[in-house]
Amino acid sequence: MNTMSDHKFHPESLMMSYGYKPSLSEGAIKSPIFQTSTFVFKNAEEGKAFFELAYGLREKTGSEEPGLIYSRINNPDLEILEDRLTLWDEAEDCAVFESGMAAISTVLLEFLKPGDLLLYSTPLYGGTDHFIHHFLHKIGVHTAGFKPGDSPEKIEAIIEQTGMADRLSMIYIETPANPTNALIDIAACKRIAERYSSAHKRVYVAVDNTYMGPLWQHPLKHGADFSLYSATKYIGGHSDVIAGACCGSNEVIARVKTLRTFLGNMAAPHTGWLLMRSLETLKVRMEQQAINAVKVAEFLVAHPKVEKVYYLGLIPENTTEYEIYQRQYTSPGAMLSFDVRGGEKEAFAFINNLKLIKLAVSLGGTESLVEHPATMTHAGVDPQHRKEMSITEKLVRVSIGVENYNDLIWDIGQALEKV
Ligand SMILES: *Cc1c(COP(=O)(O)O)cnc(C)c1O
Repeated sequence: MNTMSDHKFHPESLMMSYGYKPSLSEGAIKSPIFQTSTFVFKNAEEGKAFFELAYGLREKTGSEEPGLIYSRINNPDLEILEDRLTLWDEAEDCAVFESGMAAISTVLLEFLKPGDLLLYSTPLYGGTDHFIHHFLHKIGVHTAGFKPGDSPEKIEAIIEQTGMADRLSMIYIETPANPTNALIDIAACKRIAERYSSAHKRVYVAVDNTYMGPLWQHPLKHGADFSLYSATKYIGGHSDVIAGACCGSNEVIARVKTLRTFLGNMAAPHTGWLLMRSLETLKVRMEQQAINAVKVAEFLVAHPKVEKVYYLGLIPENTTEYEIYQRQYTSPGAMLSFDVRGGEKEAFAFINNLKLIKLAVSLGGTESLVEHPATMTHAGVDPQHRKEMSITEKLVRVSIGVENYNDLIWDIGQALEKV
């Protein structure tokens, strides 16, 4: 329980203990790694009762807990981790996976069928984009994309132009968009989803919350049905594990977990244990990363070799974007991009001269990382589309870590001098 008498604890206060009973593990203060494939039933009656629940043959009675059966179906490290992850999003339930792509592809497969229409925001994470265009198209799912900044009227026009508006089944968005931090209004997408829902067809809204979650954006509060994560990023936070998660209502997560059982792409016990360890410091890590990002952004904006900085803290007031930012986010985050004056040559010179910040893709970890979207993470995006999204040769993306910000600024400064 996250309530004790009338006091409601904050998620960060519960990350060390929530959902774990030491008495069930010899008093160990931390959850052991339950490195086991199967679980012994006390007797045949218990085994029967566990299976009845697992297979949905009957409803849970009173305080009955689902019993442990087999680690593809459930495992204590996964269940405790899932309980803890629900706290940040205030979700009813959560399912964890062995990668962010496993979480994303499982949700798309469960809630889309051949003939359906999927509306998505652009640009999408490369893996998601590939899954949609190479796999979902192959099984007959139709797709249409819209851009950050498109008005609700424009988005509805895009849906109507497909001629398949009655088959719209899901709106899938990434906000802020990677790597330019362009924003999409989740509540507006929810209103569009409701307009296209009917008595026998609900249009779901899924949000990839990797860039700002679980601390700084809570999609479910704005009407989304799914808050999806690459837990490889902020949740894991140490660049040492690949994992994913999906938060939502009991109803949708029950479906997600059922498909997960049969695809077999659940997280392993060791992954669950690593993520629980990471969650204890999630808030302090992310808050320091955000503090550092503010300092780095201030430095970049004032630097003569920097043309433009893409960072939520710099959105001009009295704009539609600013209104979304105020309503949807609790921090400007720790991801920023900027245009180096010049082109690829200048951007590469900057990257190659960094001494502390490492050149690698991924984000949200304790160490700061830099990459060149046009030739790396977004190399697969159509060049025309890349240009429309401001993903040009001069753009550099930085994920800010927990280092001393004076060192980050020094490093960026000395590398810019060499451009
Ligand atoms: C990394 C990432 C993913 C994919 O997650 P994996 O854990 O690498 O499978 C999906 N979406 C976004 C926004 C990401 O950054």
